[in-house]
Amino acid sequence: MTIVRTRFAPSPTGFIHLGNIRSALYPWAYARATNGVFILRIEDTDLDRSTQASVDVILEGMKWLGMDPDEGPFYQMQRMDRYREVLAKLKETGHVYPCYMSVEELDALREKQMIAKEKPRYDGTWRPEPGKVLPKIPEGVKPVLRFKNPIDGVVSWDDKVKGLIEISNQELDDLVIARPDGTPTYNFCVVVDDIDMQITHVIRGDDHVNNTPRQINIFNALGAAPPVYAHLPTVLNEMGEKMSKRNGAKAVTAYRDEGYLPDAMVNYLARLGWSHGDDEIFSREQFLQWFNLDHLGRSAAQFDEAKLKWVNAQHLKTLSEQELATRVKVFIEKDAIKTDERLPLICGLFKDRCDTLISLANWAKCFYADVIIPEEEREKHLVQSVFGALELLVDKLEGLGDSSWNKESIAAALKEVLTQTGLKMPQLAMPVRVLLMGTAQTPSLDALIAIFDPKTVVTRLKKK
Ligand code: GLU
Repeated sequence: MTIVRTRFAPSPTGFIHLGNIRSALYPWAYARATNGVFILRIEDTDLDRSTQASVDVILEGMKWLGMDPDEGPFYQMQRMDRYREVLAKLKETGHVYPCYMSVEELDALREKQMIAKEKPRYDGTWRPEPGKVLPKIPEGVKPVLRFKNPIDGVVSWDDKVKGLIEISNQELDDLVIARPDGTPTYNFCVVVDDIDMQITHVIRGDDHVNNTPRQINIFNALGAAPPVYAHLPTVLNEMGEKMSKRNGAKAVTAYRDEGYLPDAMVNYLARLGWSHGDDEIFSREQFLQWFNLDHLGRSAAQFDEAKLKWVNAQHLKTLSEQELATRVKVFIEKDAIKTDERLPLICGLFKDRCDTLISLANWAKCFYADVIIPEEEREKHLVQSVFGALELLVDKLEGLGDSSWNKESIAAALKEVLTQTGLKMPQLAMPVRVLLMGTAQTPSLDALIAIFDPKTVVTRLKKK
């Protein structure tokens, strides 16, 4: 049985966003699900647009999401000698030929074709054929190398997403595969790499469907069997446009910094173009167990931040208090605030109302740093009529002392204040919450107060 070998082949020309990283998720998952090999290849031949910063976001993003490659990263720029070697082989076997057509001539040809309402294509002027007399080679012109695409027949493949695709070779012109300076072009490098890296399944965005027949012809010319192809539909942004940096897409790593969990992200991205029945929430392990290429969606998927948040919230709930504390701590300490052994307890109390680690960190910070009370909360809840009750509560809490500082005694103290003042629970609870946490919406008051140390509670309640 052949071992599955998949690859993710990003071009580092702008930071990688969620739409791009989804093209890494499926090949990674397919390799993991089949005990195969996942390869990372950086396609950095566009020297003007490729940047190290963009490579870094790819590597960091994949690491964060736990999508580690088994082989690579390989960099195309470091494989130039290999491409030249294969190019020489294609020359030897008569699959490429030099073309001396100038840019001006090509432009004129294109214009003529456009006027005649034809598809712009190279017309084969320099393509050698038996009995054909080629034009005189112009002096001082360095030729490009063109691939001799078959003239007849069709190229077809059974796409794992799109089904059978057939393209007539008459639709394809002779592709430039080396520039005048000898550097190879994109489609050629991809094929050489896919052959050398023994890729069995190419899973990539459907913006490459048009390249596939050309690539298959190059595979054939090199005497290699093409891989299985799966072309994934586009990811749209919330406005229904193709997701791109230009229209607001964020770098993958921004989601890490905003407090999303890698497993939630994997879950969310998995569902952007793949399904397992009606399952919406699943673990990384389940995903890898279930994933195959038979349930990839055919239509474009749309990014939905609210849903991503919901998925993240569901994953947050499944983490233990200790695990949450470890993750939340990083966000709190970023602001130079120290935490302590109460953090797991705090996470346990607040996790159900949070959708990101940042929102959980913001709650937790109230225990470790001063809170700012918004003016409107102050005006609404800190009213003269409750001041007496607050003073009484302070007395009772001070009376508890450290040894009786627990949920039950705090609940009893609150109750006594209500009995003595005739106030209803919300009338007392709201101002206490505002003073302790800066908001009137918090989990149950006795549990909340119990986590604080008595001194902080008393100091904050006195600041009414
Ligand atoms: N480098 C290409 C891109 O970033 C992907 C090529 C491929 O997957 O074959 O779109």
